[in-house]
Amino acid sequence: MSVEEAARLLSEAIRNGLRREAEQPRIGVYRPSLLPSCLRRQFLIYKRGIIVSEEKAGLFEIGCLFHEFLERTFRDGGLTVKAVEAPFFIVSLCGDELIRISGRADLIISLNGEDYIVETKSIRNLPREPLKHHVEQLQLYLAGYGLKHGFLIYLEKSFLKNSIFPVSFSLEDFRRLIDRAALLHRHLTGDLTPEPDAEKWECWFCEFKEECAENPGGGGGQAFLTEKSSKICGGEI
Ligand code: SF4
Repeated sequence: MSVEEAARLLSEAIRNGLRREAEQPRIGVYRPSLLPSCLRRQFLIYKRGIIVSEEKAGLFEIGCLFHEFLERTFRDGGLTVKAVEAPFFIVSLCGDELIRISGRADLIISLNGEDYIVETKSIRNLPREPLKHHVEQLQLYLAGYGLKHGFLIYLEKSFLKNSIFPVSFSLEDFRRLIDRAALLHRHLTGDLTPEPDAEKWECWFCEFKEECAENPGGGGGQAFLTEKSSKICGGEI
């Protein structure tokens, strides 16, 4: 085998490794990392199956490397790491159907006898404040584990500088996210495209930005339902 062929083989192995991260979403099982994002985007992801480009899968892998780094660093520093990639389910009722929110908390650590969820985010520039969608994601982890407090840890990609933000459980935020899961569920089961409710930056990274931008009313005559106008679960669409 030539060196060039060997290099191609290595490159192929890396590409295949990233492809393995693609996973199909299931209607009725919702994700903490997606729930805060644009309702229309989530709808399309569930209807068509998630599109994980190699770049996004790469970002996911980078995230895993950061989790491993933090776990090792905390253990080496004498902290108690109780769980890594800790799975959980939250089950809720939507009318007479069960829906689930399923995810994995990056780390659960124990400090002075109290448990905390740690959610790690790798980021290009450290934020001054925690990002809203990350706080909401953490709220679901806290609810899933019945914990009061957690930490959002941002790690800057180039030099691993960090910003750490404590986050406390908010019943109000949790209720809103559960309602949002129910709303998404009703759109999906009713096959009704929701109105977009993205923050501007979300559209820059969205898999569906071209068709959404081309057709801002969306869905060519399909019915729309907004969070404000709808009666969530058990109501009429
Ligand atoms: S382009 Fe923006 S508004 Fe449209 S689906 Fe994507 S995130 Fe939502």
